[in-house]
Amino acid sequence: MLVKDLSSYLKEDREKRFAIDNILYPAEYDIYLEEHCDYYLAEAPRPKTKYCPKCFKKYFEKDLYCKDCLCSLKHISEMKRPREIRTNPTFTFKGKRDFESFDEIFTEENFIRIDDFSFSMRDFKKITRIIKRTALENMEEIVKANEIDLESLNVQEKVLLFAKSFVDVDFKSYGPELGHFEFNKITVDDRQTPSLHMTTLIHELSHFLLKEILTGIICRILDCSKNTYIESIALYMLIYSPFTELIDEYAAHTVEGRFTLYGYQDYSSFLNIEQSLDGEMGRDEIEITKSIGNTFSIAIKDILESFIDDDLRLDIKDQFLRDTRDRPNYEMLRLENCEKLTDNGFLKAIWLILSEGFIASSMNVEKLIEYEEKI
Ligand SMILES: [Zn+2]
Ligand SMILES: [Zn+2]
Repeated sequence: MLVKDLSSYLKEDREKRFAIDNILYPAEYDIYLEEHCDYYLAEAPRPKTKYCPKCFKKYFEKDLYCKDCLCSLKHISEMKRPREIRTNPTFTFKGKRDFESFDEIFTEENFIRIDDFSFSMRDFKKITRIIKRTALENMEEIVKANEIDLESLNVQEKVLLFAKSFVDVDFKSYGPELGHFEFNKITVDDRQTPSLHMTTLIHELSHFLLKEILTGIICRILDCSKNTYIESIALYMLIYSPFTELIDEYAAHTVEGRFTLYGYQDYSSFLNIEQSLDGEMGRDEIEITKSIGNTFSIAIKDILESFIDDDLRLDIKDQFLRDTRDRPNYEMLRLENCEKLTDNGFLKAIWLILSEGFIASSMNVEKLIEYEEKI
């Protein structure tokens, strides 16, 4: 038997033929199908191209309305993704007084209030609860208003949507920074892997949350409502001195670490500040400052975990394994500070941040005005 004789045994691999023709001759392919193979047309899986904006059930192109919700269908291409959505979430703290200038804030009475520091852990928990509840309400609103199908989002989109329930997020593709938080807006670099994108977002979100927590504390102690004046003071308190800068940075670093795979985290964010402190603060003082950051990070993690639960956290870690070929570097883990403050110690630390920060703010009103205009 010769090879050519095998031709009589040949049969078309129709499946493969159709698949290739579909790519080579997309238009002709449909006509061809209609004319030649009713059989295959019946068998070919038809894509569901429409969805119900209420229940998110998927429908075929020919369908017009959702049989359950009795509303007209939309094209899947019209479905909004978290990236396209702009948000402007607000968090409010209410008090009896409303200050309308920095002069009204820096009064003798308020200096005494800060010094007396009538503030408990119960008050602290109330503040974090308000933030948590508001974010979840914001997210519900964003999902409804934009007809987002949570189920159809990938892990990166879920984290982004959650972040946007706190603060607006913008993207950039320039400069060396992975991301930053400034005046109620997070900017993240677009050129990162999905896993780094998520942990950068979480890191910057922590900066936002610490600012928000501090704003809540000031409102509670001065018995006033939150406004841009109080917010500028909170912002200033977190950046004016290496002490608070290190607390802020170490808290963000620790929160980020909770959602990162061990051995892959970047330590530069707080190491730079720590190095700049060399000489200004003793080793012990630096470690205690990091412990304060750690203690704040526990409250911030608790807020974030209202949505980023164990499942989502594992998804983020899986994404890390997919994105990286580097071996983990566990050496840096030795730098971690694993101490937190007792409730009493923590309250004392907050008092210290506030009393020093309030004096410093009152002496730099020009800077505060600059911030206030940008918020
Ligand atoms: Zn429906
Ligand atoms: Zn940072």
